[in-house]
Amino acid sequence: MKIKDIQPYVLSQDLETPFFFSQWHYASRKICLVKITLEDGTYGWGEGYGPADMIKQGIEFFKPFVIGENVLENEKIWQVMYLRSLDFGRSGIFNAAISAIDLAIWDLKGKVLNQPVSVLLGGVKNPVIHPYATGFYFTDSPTLDEDLKREAEYYKANGFRAAKMKVGLGLEKDLHYVHLLKEALGDDVKLMIDSNHAYNYREALELCKKIEHLNIGWFEEPVHPEDYKGYQKLRENTTIPIAGGECEYHKHGFKRLFENECVDIAQPDIAATGGLTEVKRIAALASAYHKDIVPHSWGTWIAISAAVHFVGNLDKNPGRMYMDAPMIELDRTENPLRDDVTVPSIEVVNGEIKVPQTPGLGVDVNEEFLEKYAIDSRTEFA
Ligand SMILES: [Mg+2]
Repeated sequence: MKIKDIQPYVLSQDLETPFFFSQWHYASRKICLVKITLEDGTYGWGEGYGPADMIKQGIEFFKPFVIGENVLENEKIWQVMYLRSLDFGRSGIFNAAISAIDLAIWDLKGKVLNQPVSVLLGGVKNPVIHPYATGFYFTDSPTLDEDLKREAEYYKANGFRAAKMKVGLGLEKDLHYVHLLKEALGDDVKLMIDSNHAYNYREALELCKKIEHLNIGWFEEPVHPEDYKGYQKLRENTTIPIAGGECEYHKHGFKRLFENECVDIAQPDIAATGGLTEVKRIAALASAYHKDIVPHSWGTWIAISAAVHFVGNLDKNPGRMYMDAPMIELDRTENPLRDDVTVPSIEVVNGEIKVPQTPGLGVDVNEEFLEKYAIDSRTEFA
């Protein structure tokens, strides 16, 4: 069960329809996957969230400290990587590299022990999960309003109970699109908004006051991720639940969010914040502060499946007999790397995902497409 090889892959693909949000345009998708192979040939897959080339370098940095280790000892391996990078990477890319390696290790643990990751995390407390649709990005289409309405119809027709849109283009545009999508989705599909830290406290509060009556599910990253005071004041002064945390790393980052009473919903990205090993600790911390967790997810079925297993194991908080199923984020934007390269064992049926029973994370990688999209590959793809 010793780790023999660690191979990162950077994959890229141009998009048919570029899109944008409050911070930048997406004209292509780029990801870093990692394949870890044991001495007996068993392999597992992981993924890091963030700039793919930099994550690859991080994985290369950690490689010599991980090769030769027992794959079942995930906490021991995690600690070595953490201490090797702590002085230079208390947050950021190093942690996405740790996360990618950690996800592959959990995938391997499951395969070696012939158990799904959710069972290894402690058991499936939530066998059914409700994904919410992340979409409604902006494009340069002259028919954007109609396009967004069609997208809303698609989510309704496919049984989604909640969907998230982007805001952060300025108050006037935000109000236009929020009203448009609220009307298109109706009362049966919850609408959440996400500004990707586009606003200061006063701007965010002004937007909140104008849409509080619309029963918004949450306002995600309303202010700058370092503006803990702004988060806290906003949360005190609006009835809209506040979400955030996709820019936080480790339990220490979430401790700051919780201590400062910034959020109702914490959103660690499992492929960036430290992998399943660390997000399990973040879940314990969130429980101690009585906060909900709905993980952030933006990647392939590897990262999404990690979120499914994690949420399948997540404690109900505070817990009662009748509760809605917990949620995960399901990015519905165009992503050929997700849909061609990774093959999940989960299905979204009528807006529900059942936690898979297959060993490991339950995701296969189509190596033909891996080769097609790999832009920095080994000689085996030459
Ligand atoms: Mg977000």
